[in-house]
Amino acid sequence: MSYVNKVLKGTCPKCGQTKVFKKKGNPFLFSMPVMNERCANCNYSFHREPGFYFGGMYMSYALTVAEMVAVFVLGLLFKLNFFSIFIAVVVVIILLSTFNYRMSRLMWLNLFYKNDQEE
Ligand SMILES: [Zn+2]
Repeated sequence: MSYVNKVLKGTCPKCGQTKVFKKKGNPFLFSMPVMNERCANCNYSFHREPGFYFGGMYMSYALTVAEMVAVFVLGLLFKLNFFSIFIAVVVVIILLSTFNYRMSRLMWLNLFYKNDQEE
């Protein structure tokens, strides 16, 4: 399974059988996604070490900026005024917050899985 496939499916980077997140989270209910501690199938630890997901913040930042730019460009294409574009950007970022949280952690987890195999 490819890197993009694993990230989008949200499954264990080692076996691809179990989901990394047990709760997806909901921005409307202010609930954050919850991760499983380990893979139920192969016992691969999703909590690699303390502070492992600190680097995931860079992934989250990149995703957020990409989404903000996309909404901004769409706003320009639809000839909205800048205040409307600003409101649209804020709404989209709030709605995609839990998605970004999950995707950034999955990207970070899968990014370092290959390094584990090479050791
Ligand atoms: Zn597994």
